[in-house]
Amino acid sequence: MLARADAPSRKRAPERTCAGCREVLPQAQLVRLVLGPDGHVVPDLAGRAFGRGAWVHPTQRCIERAAPRGLAKSFRAEVKTSAAELHAAILAAAARRAESLLLAAERGGHLAVGATEVTEALAAGRALRVVVARDARAAAELGSVRKAIADGLAVAFGDKELLGQLTRRSETGVVAVVDRGLCDALTRVFDMMSIPEPNTGARAAGTREDG
Ligand SMILES: [Zn+2]
Repeated sequence: MLARADAPSRKRAPERTCAGCREVLPQAQLVRLVLGPDGHVVPDLAGRAFGRGAWVHPTQRCIERAAPRGLAKSFRAEVKTSAAELHAAILAAAARRAESLLLAAERGGHLAVGATEVTEALAAGRALRVVVARDARAAAELGSVRKAIADGLAVAFGDKELLGQLTRRSETGVVAVVDRGLCDALTRVFDMMSIPEPNTGARAAGTREDG
């Protein structure tokens, strides 16, 4: 039998309203935004920025619907950020957040660094997420990494110099996260980095930058 619903078993996760679809959901599924004094919103992926927050699903559709009118309603203030600007800001914030999560993973001993350690972690089943530098051709061609890519475990991010900086080496081609919590947080920000650009009605000039 299930426990009674009124049993004081677990704390309810805080819920927030998406400024796009107006659905009320646990805040972990939404992105927090804060409104600057200039009327522009800034993503707060670490959830630490001061100021009143509004929330949005990290999806193309909810970004389109939220900016600027849904957010103006949430903040009860004028919002000047367009859907295209909000999309770009979320992608940029996600990339910065990925860097700080990888840095924290390395500092905390939750990261296998380099081809040898990553191969060992994959063989031991400890590698939860593999991150390959975009310019790391040799690492991407390793049998173990190729299998991780085929299994959907790998993501391309940054370059060897950036991964090197985050792992206190001159260059790093591949890393693997071996901690569940960090892996989940990273997966969330990597998903944000692939949100398609919003359709803003008037067709924007410019090219896609797919890698
Ligand atoms: Zn939504």
